[in-house]
Amino acid sequence: MDCFRIVTEFTEAEISALVHPEWCEAFPWLLQGTTTRGLAGAPPFDFGLFGESSSSKEARDRWSTLCQRLGARGVVHSQQVHGAVVCEYEENSSGISGLDLVDPCDGHVTSKRGLLLAVTSADCVPVFVIDPERRAVAVLHAGWRGAAAGVIESGVEKMASAFASRAEDLRLHMGPAICGTCYEVGPEVFAALQEPVPDRPTSIDLRHVLAARAVRLGVSSAAVTISAHCTVCTESGLFSHRKGHRGRQVGYIGILD
Ligand SMILES: [Zn+2]
Repeated sequence: MDCFRIVTEFTEAEISALVHPEWCEAFPWLLQGTTTRGLAGAPPFDFGLFGESSSSKEARDRWSTLCQRLGARGVVHSQQVHGAVVCEYEENSSGISGLDLVDPCDGHVTSKRGLLLAVTSADCVPVFVIDPERRAVAVLHAGWRGAAAGVIESGVEKMASAFASRAEDLRLHMGPAICGTCYEVGPEVFAALQEPVPDRPTSIDLRHVLAARAVRLGVSSAAVTISAHCTVCTESGLFSHRKGHRGRQVGYIGILD
């Protein structure tokens, strides 16, 4: 069984986001992070656009604020459907400014500078992918349904078809999400993920499952990291669907303009 390195993101206070310390150091051209719920007493830093939790206007304003703080020209996001569709935004695509809501999908890839890609989550896994060789990035939204549908496989394939990325050049990070202790699920989830099926509800480490699937595609296990932050049991200030929060954090990735 592969063993993956656990990484503790640091808090970037100006953005209210958890940032990968090694990537931040190694790739100065990279924008990457997962937002948190924000300061105590302030309105929750909620990016949900498709639920009932926040008014669309307030949530849209937060997206603009995030873009400005990161110095990005625009951000691509979509309604997420727990599927495996991953979309590409080309170098020469134009007309994208501010928040660009594209057709429902669960992943985005680009090599375009200044364009942020974003997924929202509240227990599901934001999966960050970079190809440092070709300077291309991706972000995927993976709950158990998306994982079973093959969103990791789709993401790696899309990087290959769009940028000729080789799996062995990719770096992956399984961002803040519900951990393997907190995430108890029924046998049907294990079956859907083609994992050994227990006879009663059992906890599953979805980030580990996703990481192992990436390795089966040719990604080096040394190139995969898993966040130490859990939406439920660590004091990370994250939204958790299982804890009854209705808000959503955003996992973003992009290439500096
Ligand atoms: Zn936990």
